[in-house]
Amino acid sequence: MGQHHRVVIIGSGPAGLTAAIYTARANLAPFVIEGEPSSTSDQPGGQLMLTTEVENFPGFPEGIMGPELMGRFKEQAERFGATFLTAKATKVEFGERPLKIHVYDDVHTADAVIVSTGAQSLMLGLEQEERLIGHGLSTCATCDGFFFRGKEIAVVGGGDSAIEEATFLTKFASKVTLIHRRDSLRASKIMQDRALQNPKIEMRWNSAVTELVGTDQLEGVRLRDTVTGEDSTLDVSGLFIAIGHRPNTDVFKGVLDMEDSGYLITRPDSTYTNVSGVFACGDVKDHTYRQAITAAGSGCMAAIDAERWLESQH
Ligand code: NAP
Repeated sequence: MGQHHRVVIIGSGPAGLTAAIYTARANLAPFVIEGEPSSTSDQPGGQLMLTTEVENFPGFPEGIMGPELMGRFKEQAERFGATFLTAKATKVEFGERPLKIHVYDDVHTADAVIVSTGAQSLMLGLEQEERLIGHGLSTCATCDGFFFRGKEIAVVGGGDSAIEEATFLTKFASKVTLIHRRDSLRASKIMQDRALQNPKIEMRWNSAVTELVGTDQLEGVRLRDTVTGEDSTLDVSGLFIAIGHRPNTDVFKGVLDMEDSGYLITRPDSTYTNVSGVFACGDVKDHTYRQAITAAGSGCMAAIDAERWLESQH
């Protein structure tokens, strides 16, 4: 069983919930398919559910915990009439009207759809990650770097993201060890030079992280030399994983235009996708900024685009 809605929003991070607030206040009674609880970012509330304190979201000078911030977004959307389904979209059919969104055996239909399924940081796959994320383990230097003032920390990865994060983190940390599994970086030459010349960055080549040390708080990492097989421990109070991101777009493959990397493509300066009446916002279409505030901003754009588009249809 499913129902018909004027607007269905798929995903409930800052982008989806901002779109919900705006479309609800436009009397469009948005129906939000918010995701399923999991340890990744296509869970209700998105990636901020995996962080602890958020200090850079405007309006909260004392900072706010990520899950609390998302709880407030949701409360605000509900206040104006948004409704929520805790489940994930398992299939979409956008070839004809109304648009169809499958949630397992149920089929919901909509006049307009806003896609805000976000992205997830690739993780190393270590069993301690879930426990320590937000407790010394982070996937976002912009968000969490400030908490490591004067501390020794590490970054894992060898691409532009890892270099960018390591360089940024030297503003706060006393020392940043860049852990890379090979003996050469994938990052662009100019970024490499910047990192290699930075006196606060120390390279740890041919090293794989095999274990995170610490119960409630990260205290260090166990490393294995990928050439000699030798094990060692590096004492750090923070580890930033920067081995890439993956947008949550599997369900839209073959339906919505996307880059080779899976990020959805929208028309310049708008949230319009290639399908009329389907809009995309937030990290699912943004591999550049990836901030809660930019996601929220594009969620607002998607709501306004959807509202105007719906109006133009009648
Ligand atoms: P990326 O280029 O795919 O690099 C990922 C890095 O992580 C690689 O060095 C890879 O090692 C390593 N890695 C992957 N899986 C790993 C694992 N399980 N364990 C340990 N290491 C692992 O990703 P990215 O750095 O996020 O960049 C993505 C795209 O955004 C790129 O096109 C990049 O140029 C762009 N970007 C640009 C800027 C900028 O210009 N300012 C900043 C950030 C990102 P290997 O090298 O051994 O494969």
